[in-house]
Amino acid sequence: MDVGLFIALLNPTIALALGAAFLVLWSYQRHRPYLAVLGASYSVSAGGFLFQYFTLPFGMALTKLVSNLCFTFAGGCLAGAIVARYGRKVPFAAIGTLMVGGLAAFSWFMFVHPDLTWRIYAMNFAFGGLALLVAAELRPVRNNGPTEMILFVLSLTSAFNFFVRTIVIVAMHGPFTSYDGFYASSYWTTALLSHALLSLLIALCLFTAAALDVMKALKTETYTDPLSGLLNRRGFEERAALLLQRCAAAKFPVALVLADLDHFKLLNDVYGHAAGDRVIADFAAKLRSAAGARGVAGRVGGEEFAVLLPLTDLAAAQLFAEAIRVLYSAGGVDGLPPGTKVTASFGVAARTGEEGLEPLMRRADEALYKAKRNGRDSVRLSYERPETAFVTEWHKAS
Ligand code: GH3
Ligand code: MG
Ligand code: MG
Repeated sequence: MDVGLFIALLNPTIALALGAAFLVLWSYQRHRPYLAVLGASYSVSAGGFLFQYFTLPFGMALTKLVSNLCFTFAGGCLAGAIVARYGRKVPFAAIGTLMVGGLAAFSWFMFVHPDLTWRIYAMNFAFGGLALLVAAELRPVRNNGPTEMILFVLSLTSAFNFFVRTIVIVAMHGPFTSYDGFYASSYWTTALLSHALLSLLIALCLFTAAALDVMKALKTETYTDPLSGLLNRRGFEERAALLLQRCAAAKFPVALVLADLDHFKLLNDVYGHAAGDRVIADFAAKLRSAAGARGVAGRVGGEEFAVLLPLTDLAAAQLFAEAIRVLYSAGGVDGLPPGTKVTASFGVAARTGEEGLEPLMRRADEALYKAKRNGRDSVRLSYERPETAFVTEWHKAS
């Protein structure tokens, strides 16, 4: 097989395969439109390569324009999709300006003032500009994760490839005057090979990013309780353990509040299970907004909730629990007859020393049990302290 033809078909084949892969990925994840844009970008770039070799019926000049239209569309889409994937605002105006500017310069040096060397510069500088734009957009997020950093480096490498390689090779080769021998030139060979390599690396990185997105979504799903929107028991335990660890390292106080809705079985029996579900969701919403971003809130049982509060001592946690108790017992719940009173009982424990989640939960649960025994709709505290704390206090006192 002719080596030239083999190299010529390398890029469109890679591009079509990657384009198809992104489109398949998108068909499973319609809520991530950037995947469809990547699919379109890679697929259309295949056309760009093919039209360099196979002249369309309307002649060489127009075919070259179509080819560069394909490349420009692909480049703009790729730049926009990467920026969108990383949660940045897509700079449509800048991308559009570079695309139109590159094509306008290309058309000028094709139809008005024919010059192959300047056509090469026009397109390469426009793509180099797009690569620099992506690098600038990724710069603020480049330390967020490995794919951010790799893509940032790849955009800079692409920009270097488009600007420096082009200038160096044209300088070494001398100006290109016609397409005779062009496709066997060092310019075209290095362009094809570097493009094949960079586009593969960029696609691999974006596939990894998409896989990470899916894993993150699955993890969130595994850790979230669908009815309340809070963490489920598993999620709560994991996040709480992490928070306890951090607070121990920073020597911050932490407190745990457990809440259990009162006479919930009766409420279910009287108003039905659906009404019970609404009560759970309503209580969870109040708990979440009270806990804010700092606290870790979870639904740890049917009608049992837990909130772990950093930078909070026993007194502050008691105030927190009292505030929710009063707020909750005073307000009605949508869907229940007006005047229906739903209440909750609370148990509060402050961490002593490096106490783990399990003993802390047990102490808060004992306090909650006291609240239930003492007539419900109340807050009770755990005053129990582990031995080490007693010893320290005793040393201080003596
Ligand atoms: P206490 O005041 O002592 O806590 O009494 P209680 O009735 O709330 O406690 P108990 O633990 O006996 O009953 C809890 C009830 O919560 C039993 C169960 O039917 C109900 N429950 C658990 N999960 C759900 C849920 O997801 N939806 C609804 N609607 N009810 C639930
Ligand atoms: Mg209950
Ligand atoms: Mg219960």
